[in-house]
Amino acid sequence: MITIALTKGRILAETLPLLDAAGIHPNEDINSSRKLVFETNEESVRLLVLRGADVTTYVRHGIADLGVAGKDMLMEYGLTDIYELLDLNIARCRLMTAAPVGQRRIDGKRQRISVASKFTNIARQFYEEKGVNVELIKLYGALELAPIVGLADEIVDVVDTGNTLTANGLEPRELIAHVSSRLIANKAALKVKYELVRHWSDKIGDAVRAQQPAAAGTDRGR
Ligand code: AMP
Repeated sequence: MITIALTKGRILAETLPLLDAAGIHPNEDINSSRKLVFETNEESVRLLVLRGADVTTYVRHGIADLGVAGKDMLMEYGLTDIYELLDLNIARCRLMTAAPVGQRRIDGKRQRISVASKFTNIARQFYEEKGVNVELIKLYGALELAPIVGLADEIVDVVDTGNTLTANGLEPRELIAHVSSRLIANKAALKVKYELVRHWSDKIGDAVRAQQPAAAGTDRGR
């Protein structure tokens, strides 16, 4: 048996066609179901549908052998006991700092700035490397609200089109990293269930290359 933990939402919508092309078909419609565990046409493959922040936890503990998670989550929560196998080249976006349009930047080297984010580990490291003094405020959603209401000077969030920032009077400032979703594996599972894990990661890799022949699977470092 192999268990694959998927990230719900935008990433799931782009993962399902890849799984389909790899020959993994859930036994019921994941999008319209409230279930969290799904059997598939393959007796040996089971799917879990989780929040992005939880996928690494399930894979790290070996409850899931494989997982699909955004690079942002891997950067934030680390790769302890996890291998990053493949860039799936889906759900591409950028991890950025953002602030109210036109707001002058406080000199963070002299004065402390407040930064709200879901990604407090990434943000801490980013500002620290720049020598900027920050107070980090952990939020779990609607980050764009924080600068508007004066909770924070800046935010660190993932940006795709930038429409959400614009709609809330914010503008992107610095690029921290390019993000796409990755196939990850539990390190022990890769040894103990080598054949099965390799078989399905190869199939998913083939599906990625079939969708995007030029770019697939080559960008493991970002
Ligand atoms: P946008 O308005 O297109 O810049 O999208 C920004 C909003 O969508 C933010 O609330 C982000 O948290 C979310 N978002 C954008 N891209 C992704 C992605 N690849 N994965 C998860 N969330 C995303």
